Amino acid sequence: MGAIYFASDLHLTAVESCAFDLWVDFCGRVAADGESLYLLGDVFEAYVGDDDDAPLVAAVVASLRRLSDAGVEISFAHGNRDFLVGAEFSASSGARLMAEVEIIELGHRRATVLHGDTLCTDDIAYQTVRRQLRDPAWQAQFLSQPLAARRAFAAKARAESAAHTAMAAASIMDVNADAVAALQSATAADWIIHGHTHRPAVHDLRAGRRRIVLGDWPRAASWLRVEGGSAELHFEDQVVRVDP
Ligand code: MN
Repeated sequence: MGAIYFASDLHLTAVESCAFDLWVDFCGRVAADGESLYLLGDVFEAYVGDDDDAPLVAAVVASLRRLSDAGVEISFAHGNRDFLVGAEFSASSGARLMAEVEIIELGHRRATVLHGDTLCTDDIAYQTVRRQLRDPAWQAQFLSQPLAARRAFAAKARAESAAHTAMAAASIMDVNADAVAALQSATAADWIIHGHTHRPAVHDLRAGRRRIVLGDWPRAASWLRVEGGSAELHFEDQVVRVDP
């Protein structure tokens, strides 16, 4: 039995970038002792379809393929940036595409894992946009456009998202406590593991339960490593042990 790794919010933009170098290092770490890897969304800063011929997509597929060929089980959740990752990406990388919320067993604990954006229910404007982007009819129409048009749309959406993030109150950009409590109770979770908010931390919930938030990458790598009874959240220069 090896370690189980979780990471999210890498926001990769190009092969020639510090973030991609961190990604390569991280893949080496997972290859060394990992039995499975959960990527919980926003691996890509933008993703406009499996037919994208950008070198970054090919490079990420190749690094995942090396891991899956080495026997690492890879699970990939959609984030709000890379919700168009599809069957072709999955087939070529060997990564299984996850449902929006999944429950996994980590030793004797039950962990509910997800990207995390669905917990940010106070951000009404975001949730409205999300419904549109996740609509199969909208996606089919979008994917039928030429790559250049899709890239232009993605660039505009990123600019609008940055403006929204700058303007919105900090509180609405975080998870809603009632949404967390409802998910915990509906899934009987000991741990909820998610990313999206870029606020890495281990939060205590009621009755010894935890909400573990993965960190965002552009400045430093972040991951959660679980092995046997112990878990460690790494972000920036910190390591937070998750009490059993
Ligand atoms: Mn996100």
